[in-house]
Amino acid sequence: MIGRELAEAGIPSLIIDERPHVAGNCHTERDAESGVMIHRYGPHIFHTDSERVWNYIRCFGEFEPYVNRVKATVKGKIYSLPVNLHTINQFFGTSMSPAEARAFIASKARNDIQDPQTFEEQGMKFVGEELYEAFFAGYTRKQWGIEPSELPASILKRLPLRFNYDDNYFNHRFQGMPREGYSKIVETILDHPLIELRRQVRFEDLDESFQHLFYSGPIDRYFNFDLGRLAYRTLDFQMIRAEGDFQGTAVMNYPDSDVPFTRIAEHKHFAPWEAGHLEETVAFREYSRACGPDDIPYYPVNLVGGVDLLKTYQDRASELKDVTFVGRLGTFQYLDMDVTIDRALDVAQAYLKQRAAH
Ligand code: UDP
Repeated sequence: MIGRELAEAGIPSLIIDERPHVAGNCHTERDAESGVMIHRYGPHIFHTDSERVWNYIRCFGEFEPYVNRVKATVKGKIYSLPVNLHTINQFFGTSMSPAEARAFIASKARNDIQDPQTFEEQGMKFVGEELYEAFFAGYTRKQWGIEPSELPASILKRLPLRFNYDDNYFNHRFQGMPREGYSKIVETILDHPLIELRRQVRFEDLDESFQHLFYSGPIDRYFNFDLGRLAYRTLDFQMIRAEGDFQGTAVMNYPDSDVPFTRIAEHKHFAPWEAGHLEETVAFREYSRACGPDDIPYYPVNLVGGVDLLKTYQDRASELKDVTFVGRLGTFQYLDMDVTIDRALDVAQAYLKQRAAH
């Protein structure tokens, strides 16, 4: 995005990627055997409240309507997510109205917690102990590898709680899936005469010099990990091939602690406009673990109160006037695609303004 904005303003740039493809962890490719469009590094659903971002991304490819509706298997039963009136009535075996459910959950919620700081406090205050234990505690331990009492409340604040039957996983006004996949969109963005793209080039192996560097790799890697490594989670995917329909939906979460994976994503359901034509299906069990030196980082692990190393790297980063750190890994923040794009557009504008002033 930044390269494209600069190119539109007449500034040439070199974009490198160490992988053989563009789009990073959003990369999509069509599976030759089944014809399913696969999100190689796990599911990505485009959703945003920003008209700027929604209008921008659709300049580079067509989006199909898509609404993410997630289910959860808990102790052998299927529930609706995010936690909504259906979930509450399913879980407690009730048939409450919105007002009754609101009062019921308020009676379960830990109201003594005033200003929740941790994931656990947020969960207890948000839905009360039973729903928290069933849907959030086990999933979160598997996903992050640490106790929810050590994780920030912000992670749980990603998820809505609704007292109606709206089971749209996201609250945003705009949501969709790129018809030809995310990689095609990124290829189109990079298709400009002033952009040179080199794949399979590591940042460390570049020996040219540049007027400015926009760095979207891990922030600690930029500094050769000289103060130590920040914690990331990586994912392993176990592929399942089947005929027809494997689980009947795109995402099934498995919060139970005795199930080793966090969720199963069946990718043809991310493309409902073509799913009906495909006879075979592909699904992936998703396993989360600590990211080793040779693994691909997916999620930055932000601990409550554990920011010292990050802060030191960030202070050093802010001293570098010719380098801007961007994206989930460059800023070490759990950013969604839309926020990353929004910030990238801001970064490009700020850079162009600063350049024009000199
Ligand atoms: N989460 C959970 N149970 C679920 C789904 C999510 O406890 O069934 C928690 C978990 O800690 C997860 C966070 O909420 O990391 C954010 O969930 P989201 O679905 O946004 O995760 P992503 O799709 O980004 O992996």
